[in-house]
Amino acid sequence: MGEHWAVIGAGMAGLAAARRLNAAGLAVTVFEKSRGLGGRMATRRAGGFRFDHGAQYFTARGERFLSLVETLSAEGLVGRWGEDHVGMPGMSAPARVLAPQATVVGECTVSSLTGGAHGWSVSTADGPAATEGNGTFAGVIVAVPAPQAAPLLASAGCSWDGAARATYAPCWALMLGFPARTTLSQDRLRPGDAAIAWIARDSSKPGRDASGDAIVVHATPAWSREHLEETPEQAAAALLARFRELTGETAEPGFAAAHRWRYALVEQPAGAPFFWDPAARLGACGDWCIGPRVEAAFDSGDSLAGAILGSNPAR
Ligand SMILES: Cc1cc2nc3c(=O)[nH]c(=O)nc-3n(C[C@H](O)[C@H](O)[C@H](O)COP(=O)(O)OP(=O)(O)OC[C@H]3O[C@@H](n4cnc5c(N)ncnc54)[C@H](O)[C@@H]3O)c2cc1C
Repeated sequence: MGEHWAVIGAGMAGLAAARRLNAAGLAVTVFEKSRGLGGRMATRRAGGFRFDHGAQYFTARGERFLSLVETLSAEGLVGRWGEDHVGMPGMSAPARVLAPQATVVGECTVSSLTGGAHGWSVSTADGPAATEGNGTFAGVIVAVPAPQAAPLLASAGCSWDGAARATYAPCWALMLGFPARTTLSQDRLRPGDAAIAWIARDSSKPGRDASGDAIVVHATPAWSREHLEETPEQAAAALLARFRELTGETAEPGFAAAHRWRYALVEQPAGAPFFWDPAARLGACGDWCIGPRVEAAFDSGDSLAGAILGSNPAR
């Protein structure tokens, strides 16, 4: 193996970067705050149902992303939902195979990055992460949402302000599990409502369980902002009431819960596909560089890794 790199964040952007660095023979350790991989390509199993409560589906237009999606489709991890693509059996499924050679350190919230004589160190609130290679990483990639990337980049002594410029809309997501099939007339619906932006019958996606209905409701950015600090119980009750009014559905859900995405969809991107400082060997990527899409996150992480390899004589 060549150099050893650190990637902070195991969403599509960080994993795409890790994948490309691994493919060029570099070792990568990925630090991830959560237990699972995939970030906002998220799947929750609860109450006997499976919900994609973050990204609903994704498009694949660019050559490199299309090629990855074709590989994942051949492996049965991506399928078609109408014209669009979804992970199978859930949106988080592709994340687990994106960078199989990378070492993943889960449940590790990185709070600062320090450059030293022998390389980069990655620290949490408890001090330097006790992980092989820490203190000697050849470079670091920050692949977390912009409001979380800005302080990490600042801790590394970086003065680039792109992460501070990018903004996100929040989103309250309501997950509803019905033991029997509901009367919803369509599998996906944009009702044009002030409170609810999107209703999806997740159970209509390929590879899902056929019994009952798993439904995901996304609130609009305006409603989510207005109700941002409510409890999940309050948000769930309000969104369920509006869901009933809009759809006429009267059945009682066997499971209902709300999840708040504080940083859901990029509203104002940084305007550069990635950030890369070849002297410091510090990079940043994510959907916030380009736009609010899974493919944008892939493009950002993949192209940052391409730039690193292009400026890395040791590869
Ligand atoms: C409700 C919702 C609906 C969406 N719908 C769609 C859609 O239909 N189609 C589409 O293409 N896109 C959609 N998106 C957007 C899409 O999910 C994102 O653009 C994409 O997944 C972002 O990937 P990323 O790698 O940039 O960031 P993320 O997926 O957010 O990954 C960042 C990772 O960093 C981790 N992290 C954060 N801080 C730290 C830290 N300090 N230390 C360690 N780890 C950290 C996080 O836990 C996370 O795993 C939706 C998003 C949401 C929330």
